[in-house]
Amino acid sequence: MTARRTTQRVVSMDGVLVAPEDARVSVYDRGFLYGDSVFETIRTYGGRPFALGEHLARLGRSAARVGIRLPIEEAAFAEEIGHALAAVDNPESTVRVMITRGTGPLGLDPNLAERPLRVMLIEPLVPLPAALYREGVAVITHRTERAADDAPGAKVGNYLGGMLALRAAKDVGAHEAILLDTHGAVIEGTTSNVFAVTGRTLRTPPEAAGILAGITRAWVLEEGRAAGLDVRETAMKPADLAEADEVFLTSTLREVLPVVKVDGRAVGDGVPGPITRALHRGFRTRAGLGDRAMPWEP
Ligand code: PMP
Repeated sequence: MTARRTTQRVVSMDGVLVAPEDARVSVYDRGFLYGDSVFETIRTYGGRPFALGEHLARLGRSAARVGIRLPIEEAAFAEEIGHALAAVDNPESTVRVMITRGTGPLGLDPNLAERPLRVMLIEPLVPLPAALYREGVAVITHRTERAADDAPGAKVGNYLGGMLALRAAKDVGAHEAILLDTHGAVIEGTTSNVFAVTGRTLRTPPEAAGILAGITRAWVLEEGRAAGLDVRETAMKPADLAEADEVFLTSTLREVLPVVKVDGRAVGDGVPGPITRALHRGFRTRAGLGDRAMPWEP
């Protein structure tokens, strides 16, 4: 018997499905030249894109923030994503939606761009190892020049600052780097938002700190309020993380991930805490996944 061939990856370019090895972008594309693009990372649950409306709304806000015209309406995006997902056989997938300002003659002037290009990469979802949820992860804090960020809150294609911070984290065996602004205030992880729990108080930096307004963050804030926690979106210093009872990260691909070490120092008891676990359970129940095993469960 021959195994059925399965398709795991597909690329949608301006709405046309192509095999990844055939997908090409011009060297004159401004996404390549200048990081002149916006994007979203979406994941599926049960094969369906999760929080799609929220992701597409944020994509629209990011594009508006940097003056990239959305090439198609939100409903058409949703349709193209559905079409691309139908072309793969994955139990769960990630969808990376990118819009670049497009190609044009060399030059920084955005008016040189001809028309936006939209690219979607559909890939099989690779879940984080269960051990990270079971044991928690280490993070470092990393000072940046983020106060000079030109488009805070927009998910733009240039992640160079985050990438360099993440390299510093990986160099010391940490999972994520928590970015600090020029004043040393906590902003967010390189691809995550950060929370601290002290007693029954749940804290996370506000949107005004220049964070990306994470979709998982919003769900967890709602869950925290529903659970009767004292929820505060407030400025934070690295000491607030180090001295908290519990710290965790949120993102689309992580959901809620416990942090047990900040800059080499144990958080609380050095193991994932009960409020982190409860918020994670609550998040998954809200997402309609209450009947599934939690990522740390066998
Ligand atoms: N901050 C940054 C800088 C990110 O790249 C991400 C990942 N999109 C997040 C926070 C978390 O956002 P979300 O929960 O919407 O994935």
